[in-house]
Amino acid sequence: MKGKLFVVSGPSGAGKGTICRELLKRRPEICLSVSCATRAPRPGEIDGVHYFFLSKEEFLARKEAGGLLECAQFNGGNWYGTPRDHVLTQLEAGKSVLLEIENNGAQQVIRQYPETVSVFILPPDLKTLLTRLIMRGTEDLEKLRARLEKMPSEFKAAKAYTCLIINDEVERATERLEAVFDGDLRTGEKEKRCLEEANRKFADMAACRQLLDDCYRQVRGDFVPA
Ligand code: 5GP
Repeated sequence: MKGKLFVVSGPSGAGKGTICRELLKRRPEICLSVSCATRAPRPGEIDGVHYFFLSKEEFLARKEAGGLLECAQFNGGNWYGTPRDHVLTQLEAGKSVLLEIENNGAQQVIRQYPETVSVFILPPDLKTLLTRLIMRGTEDLEKLRARLEKMPSEFKAAKAYTCLIINDEVERATERLEAVFDGDLRTGEKEKRCLEEANRKFADMAACRQLLDDCYRQVRGDFVPA
């Protein structure tokens, strides 16, 4: 491969999409891979720009034919995957390609291409992550609770990434990501401590569940069912 392959991942709500968008504004030479997805387009989303929106049948046919570099099913049973040909063509042409994907897919890419530069975006702390997810308003409490249960394994996987970036401030995190693209692959002590702290928190899931309920009540002012 002549170009470099970059994967940016991290928990939902960490802000990886925002940081990647900021990076692409600064570095238009980077090619963002457009994924295939079976979920319905949201208002304003354009087929072929935000995603290639496929039916489940179309998606699975593509997967069977080997047309996807990685794929994963999540988010209410929806499939997401990276088109293989487009990414490989860009890399062969010497371009840097960026994949902004969730952890399962990221692990598949890293296994196939160990030279991939992988970045895990961390939230500053669990409370901030939960608050961001609640404020985004795309999931009800039941879905948020299910998401919380999956977080410990997601965060455990972070160790396997080339580097960690904390998204405490978009500007700073974007600068850090830009530096990674320029070859500075160091992870600072602050980032390592932030990951350790998150993993320590997840050792007590009862306290994490309580934290989610408390954040939900604080943000929404709603009654929280048991
Ligand atoms: P959304 O449905 O909100 O657009 O995206 C949900 C999640 O899907 C995001 O965390 C994003 O990183 C992830 N995602 C987007 N495209 C892909 C893909 O091609 N493969 C995988 N594994 N995850 C993806």
